[in-house]
Amino acid sequence: MSNEYALAVEDLTVSFDGFKAVDGLNLYVDKNELRVIIGPNGAGKTTVLDLICGKTRATSGTIRFKGVELTKYPEYKIVQAGVGRKFQTPSIYENLTVLENLEISFPRGRSVFGSLTFVRSQDVTDRILEIAETIFLSEHLEEQAGLLSHGQKQWLEIGMLLIQDPELLMLDEPVAGMSVSEREKTAELLNKISQGRSVIVIEHDMEFVKRIAHKVTVLHQGKVLAEGNMDAVQNNPKVIEVYLGH
Ligand code: ADP
Ligand code: MG
Repeated sequence: MSNEYALAVEDLTVSFDGFKAVDGLNLYVDKNELRVIIGPNGAGKTTVLDLICGKTRATSGTIRFKGVELTKYPEYKIVQAGVGRKFQTPSIYENLTVLENLEISFPRGRSVFGSLTFVRSQDVTDRILEIAETIFLSEHLEEQAGLLSHGQKQWLEIGMLLIQDPELLMLDEPVAGMSVSEREKTAELLNKISQGRSVIVIEHDMEFVKRIAHKVTVLHQGKVLAEGNMDAVQNNPKVIEVYLGH
């Protein structure tokens, strides 16, 4: 029964002028699962996230999230349903402090009168401090976000998503451009935030994938080439061929 899964994607296809970037994809993700999607450039990984978050419309197929069909929902309703998505480049407010960035991402913080006019209540403050701790930025709350390191900016954006408490969090190549120690901390961060929600991570760095993945899905030409634990996937002849061929 696909209803047991947090996310059930079935027969998902998107065609751009006849080219199927995603082609009959099936993907099932459990609650508390951290799934990593790997695959060569152009395999369709980013497009899968675009389809789930409603940025791109499916040509056919279904995306059920906690039993609700998402393919016809506008993007904002998909966010409201509990899906958060991080793009490859961090989109933070460079001129605001870390604290202010987290504050305006708090669901109640958004008002038509401008995000910064709202009064901070104790529970909002507590939540912000808790998230700041999780993303290793407790000591940087008053710092201007534009002055953070690249890795810290990535963490801040993850924090801005976490503050909305999504039940499914999707991250596209979160450690690209990070230092070794930032990668290690990000692995720790992702392991922590996959408790109590589902997480989908697209990643290239195999050392990083090993540290975080519960299950790995290998995409190739818009289709699932292989799926399973890291060892099984790495030793799969079809996977080896695709990677050596590139
Ligand atoms: P990946 O993230 O795995 O590298 P993408 O999902 O970005 O791959 O792209 C998969 C394929 O779909 C690529 O060949 C890309 O050029 C194509 N593609 C992605 N988005 C569009 C679009 N909006 N219009 C046309 N082609 C697209
Ligand atoms: Mg991509």
